[in-house]
Amino acid sequence: MANIKVALLRYCLTDAGWRRLRVTAIRKGRGWEERVDTPQGTKLLEKGEYQLRWYQGSQARFKGVGKDLQEALTSWENQIAILEAEKAAAAAGRELVPDAPGRLTLLEAKRRFLEKKRLVDRDLETISAYENLIAEFLKVSKKSFVDQIEELDFLRFCDALRKRGLAERTVKNYYSFICTFLTSCGVDHKKIVARENRPRKDDPLPVAYSENEVNRFLAACSSERDRLVFETYLKTGCREQELTFLEWTDFNWAENSITIHGEKRLKLSVDGAEKEFRFRTKTRKPREITLEESLLRRLKAWRKKNPHTRFVFGTSSDLPNGHFLETVKRTAYRAKLNCGKCKSCLDRDECEHWDLKTFRSTFATWALQRGVDIRTVQALMGHTKIDMTAKYLAPLKGKAAQEKLNSVFASVKS
Ligand SMILES: [Zn+2]
Repeated sequence: MANIKVALLRYCLTDAGWRRLRVTAIRKGRGWEERVDTPQGTKLLEKGEYQLRWYQGSQARFKGVGKDLQEALTSWENQIAILEAEKAAAAAGRELVPDAPGRLTLLEAKRRFLEKKRLVDRDLETISAYENLIAEFLKVSKKSFVDQIEELDFLRFCDALRKRGLAERTVKNYYSFICTFLTSCGVDHKKIVARENRPRKDDPLPVAYSENEVNRFLAACSSERDRLVFETYLKTGCREQELTFLEWTDFNWAENSITIHGEKRLKLSVDGAEKEFRFRTKTRKPREITLEESLLRRLKAWRKKNPHTRFVFGTSSDLPNGHFLETVKRTAYRAKLNCGKCKSCLDRDECEHWDLKTFRSTFATWALQRGVDIRTVQALMGHTKIDMTAKYLAPLKGKAAQEKLNSVFASVKS
C-alpha cells in the first residue's frame, strides 16, 4: 500500500503567477510549521489554500483543503487512508461505498473521536498522539467500516508496532489507546480479542537507587542548587515537570508543605516577548506534599538567598528550568555511577539508569520499605489508584520478613 502518494501543495502567487508549490510540514513545539518550496529565482507574494494532489493512472487529481495547516495535514492523512481503502476494496473485488446508510466509516469515527477530545480540552500532544496511532491502525487494518473490525486487525496493529522495535509496555499502551478509540464507536476489544492474544503486561519491579548511590550522587552535584533540586526530587517523589514549575507561592510555610497544582497556565516574558507556559500533572488533580524537616530547612535557607525569584529552581532568568534530566545524567557520570553497560553508556556519556523518574520510584520504595503506610504514600505520589502505589512494595523474604514479624509480635508474652 506504500505506493499511494499524496502530495501536500499550496496554491501561491509568485512573481511568475499562481503556482502550486510543494509544502513540507515541520514539527515545531506542539504544533506545525511549514516550508514552501519556492522555485529558484521566483518570489513568493501571497499564500492561498492548501491542495492535495495524487494520481489515478497518469491523471493528476487535486482537492482543495482550506488554509489551515493542521487541518490540511489531517485531510492529507485522511485522503491517503481513503485511497488505500479504495485500493484494498478494489483488490478484493468489491466497491467501496463510503457513505453506506447506517454504517459508520472508520474515518468518520476518527473525525468524531478527535473532535470530542478537542472539545473536552485534552492537550494537543495527547490529541496528536491519538491521531497518529489511529492513522497507523487504519493503515494496518485496511478496513473502511467500524463493523468490519476483527481480532486480526488488533493483532496486525500490535505486530506492526513490535516490528517498529517498540517495547512491549509501549505496545500495550498504544493498544489501549486504540481500544479507547474503538470503544467510542461501540467496538469492545474484550469481546473481539482473546485474552491470551492481547499485549502482555510486563511489569518489572520498580527500580530504586540505593542509599549509597544517592549519597554519592548528591556529593557529586556541582552546585548548591543542583544538590537541592535532586534532594527535593528524592524527598518529595515529585514528577519532573512538577518541580520545573514549582513556585515559591506553592509553599505553605505554616503547614510545612507544598501544593502541586493540577494545572498551571503562566504568561511569562521570554526575551521581552510574552509566552504562555502550560503545565499539567498526570491526573490534573492538585495534591499536598509534606516536606521532610531537613529539606524544609534547606529550602528556607535557599529562599533567603534568593528572595526575589518566582520559581524555586528556575533558570538564571527565572523561567521554568527544563534541564534537570541532562543534569542528572551528567552528575551520575561524574560520580562514576553510570553502569558502563547500557546503550547510552556505550554510545554517549550518559546512563539509562539515571533519570528523574527513578528518584520518584526511590521515594516510594524507601517510604514503603521504611513503614510509611500505603495510603499516605499514595496521596504523596498523587496516584489515583492504590494498585500503582502497591507496585513499589516488593514483598520481604526470609530473614528480612522474619525480623519484621518479630517486631510485630514483640509485645506478646509467650
Ligand atoms: Zn548505563
